Amino acid sequence: LNFDQFNFESGLKEGLDAMGFEKPTPIQESAIPVIMEGKDLIACAQTGTGKTAAFVLPILHKIAASGSSGLDTLILAPTRELAQQIDQQIQGFAYFLGISSIPVYGGGDGIVWEQQKKALETGAEIIVATPGRLIALLQGGKIKFDNIKHLILDEADRMLDMGFSDDILKIVNYLPKDRQTILFSATMPPKIRQFSKQLLNNPEEISL
Ligand code: AMP
Repeated sequence: LNFDQFNFESGLKEGLDAMGFEKPTPIQESAIPVIMEGKDLIACAQTGTGKTAAFVLPILHKIAASGSSGLDTLILAPTRELAQQIDQQIQGFAYFLGISSIPVYGGGDGIVWEQQKKALETGAEIIVATPGRLIALLQGGKIKFDNIKHLILDEADRMLDMGFSDDILKIVNYLPKDRQTILFSATMPPKIRQFSKQLLNNPEEISL
């Protein structure tokens, strides 16, 4: 089976071709339909399995299909490197869609900080952020999260290990309750299950 089974928007198909993706990986095969249906999802998947495209592709499809503009999706990741990688994949797939994403992470100098704030003001459909930096922006009152429809937590186990759980819960308080939440994690210890109970609503579960 190839990617045609998902009936993606045509601009997204072009992006897939341009990126050289031909066949979905197993995690993509199982996660993409669930996310397209709008259900909450807990997925256990390691790096290297194609987990990034497993959430990026259906989200881009949904944004393109709804034709809406404005901030739609928040992706949280543990590190600057991962946030950058996710952002780059989004930009590759979204090339023909007119959908943009902005990475928001700490550790850069003041110039990076100013660029991120400026970019946010010009508008984007997707923010890919590390939790600590995003809290700083939210508390500055710069961005409005009232219209966010999708929240994605990538490498949730690592985010908890790094002590981000309070930051994540604070961020979630700024989001509408009526949203789709998707959690990816390499491991599923009890603390991840407990955490996801606070954030997800009747989720499907995928473990490969
Ligand atoms: P990830 O697990 O998301 O870190 O992805 C690992 C690598 O596999 C990345 O370089 C992706 O670009 C690549 N990749 C993911 N899914 C596919 C696919 N269906 N076809 C070809 N390459 C893929």
